[in-house]
Amino acid sequence: MAHRSGRHFLQIPGPTNVPDRILRAMDRPTIDHRGPDFAALGREALDGIKTIFKTQQPVVIYPASGTGAWEAAIVNTLSPGDRVLMFETGHFATLWRNLAERFGIHCDFVPGDWRHGVDPAAVEARLAEDRGHTIKAVMAVHNETSTGVASRIPLIRNAIDAAGHPALLLVDTISSLGSIDYRHDEWGVDVTVSGSQKGLMLPPGLSFNAISEKAMAASRSNRMPRSYWDWADMAGPNRAGFFPYTPATNLLYGLVEAIDMLHEEGLDAVFARHDRHAEATRRAVTGWGLEVLALDPAEYSSSLTAVLLPDGHDADRLRRIILDRFDMSLGAGLGKLAGRVFRIGHLGDFNDLTLAGTLSGVEMGLELAGIPHRKGGARAAMDALQGGAAAQAERTAATVA
Ligand SMILES: *Cc1c(COP(=O)(O)O)cnc(C)c1O
Repeated sequence: MAHRSGRHFLQIPGPTNVPDRILRAMDRPTIDHRGPDFAALGREALDGIKTIFKTQQPVVIYPASGTGAWEAAIVNTLSPGDRVLMFETGHFATLWRNLAERFGIHCDFVPGDWRHGVDPAAVEARLAEDRGHTIKAVMAVHNETSTGVASRIPLIRNAIDAAGHPALLLVDTISSLGSIDYRHDEWGVDVTVSGSQKGLMLPPGLSFNAISEKAMAASRSNRMPRSYWDWADMAGPNRAGFFPYTPATNLLYGLVEAIDMLHEEGLDAVFARHDRHAEATRRAVTGWGLEVLALDPAEYSSSLTAVLLPDGHDADRLRRIILDRFDMSLGAGLGKLAGRVFRIGHLGDFNDLTLAGTLSGVEMGLELAGIPHRKGGARAAMDALQGGAAAQAERTAATVA
């Protein structure tokens, strides 16, 4: 293959661009994971990641993709034959449901249009009907990466409480952690699932379960065979900074660096940056005269935007043209959205000019692909970014004065 100069634009909603600082942090000899030096690294990673989940409770780290942590959340808390409540928010909710079913879990899967998040009123109504408390868990995807819709987890928590129902709350934050505000303890989540390769800016290969006391108690009495994923096997070694099997040592170096970077910027500033880039992206989409897939502004995702193409136009062909001409990868439409949408990832290691470049590439691609649109969407986004930056400069000046 011919060499392509310049940097590839990896604007899919995960894996995301890995910052040089993280690459350098991982560029080290792999050490003995049972030796004395490892314990400090292990403890730093295990303690540090809690600050990102906003929890004081244990977080387990697996050398696995996010799917592994999905499975871990289920096998540690549920038993074959258990009933759970889930919502068809998109492709990832569907995959998690399919995985649960393979373990003999009965999923009440509330149908959805793939343009909305979990409806808190439906959670309350379903749980209120379940007077015998046969539903053991509510399982929700915080940020549905296939649609760019973010469900409101605090409202789901409130709905469970309003129904006076004891179900566990299991939440997938694989594409939101480190990009969109999330609070494991404050929101009363029992298991939070996440992964390394999206907001945490790491390569794929680590995933997480943050575990409440209630979930830990469930894990002591549930009946599901498990071995690799067993929380109980992690607890002892983790206390001293070790793991029951070989951890992904070099990814842990990267994780510690990523946590430092997020705190240096400040988590609130990180979330505000993602909000601002998402807003500018939506201005570009409406500027082009195209449609944002998410329908409810209260549920817009700040980590990605899914863009619906006019009928009869193939989003995969557009993506191919953009990849060939501008060396940029955009997210494909998944499941029933295949060919209908493309997804712009604006999460992780990202700044105003990365977004401006990304949107310029999309705008040029729309023209080359002959997709009906108005010119100037990228300009509309630049106006938003510029305004945001001017306002920021004014605030800084005011603070200094
Ligand atoms: C990426 C993603 C997954 C899948 O994670 P893998 O690391 O590919 O196993 C699951 N859920 C959501 C919301 C995701 O964005």
